[in-house]
Amino acid sequence: MNFLCPNCNSSTHLDKHSLGKKFTVGPYKFVNFEIQCSECFMDIPSNLCENVKNETISDIKKLWFDKYKPEHLKHAAKCSKCNRYYWEIEKSLYENNITSKDIFYQNYSPHKGGGSLVCKICDPDAFSK
Ligand SMILES: [Zn+2]
Ligand SMILES: [Zn+2]
Repeated sequence: MNFLCPNCNSSTHLDKHSLGKKFTVGPYKFVNFEIQCSECFMDIPSNLCENVKNETISDIKKLWFDKYKPEHLKHAAKCSKCNRYYWEIEKSLYENNITSKDIFYQNYSPHKGGGSLVCKICDPDAFSK
């Protein structure tokens, strides 16, 4: 598989996974898989980064920045304390030689109708079990 990240132009990636959420509207409606970039740590829809032809790269980038990325930002996991998005947290942990998929825990907050996320950077002790 050839990977090209429309977000940062990296050609290296981490894992490919199926989309956690099912969207019925918007650009993500037709996305089944995402591939995580190993440079910016962003999850990119596989149709925008897998085996992209040279002649379509600029169109794909436009699609990512105009349509997909704003949508991704709306739904992306974010720490309720530091307001970092998951990719900022993963990148920063990676730079400190911590590779873990376990980067959030949920704080129960009834007022927000569910849990709010707290990241490993804000509360590293909570993860050292
Ligand atoms: Zn990237
Ligand atoms: Zn945090």
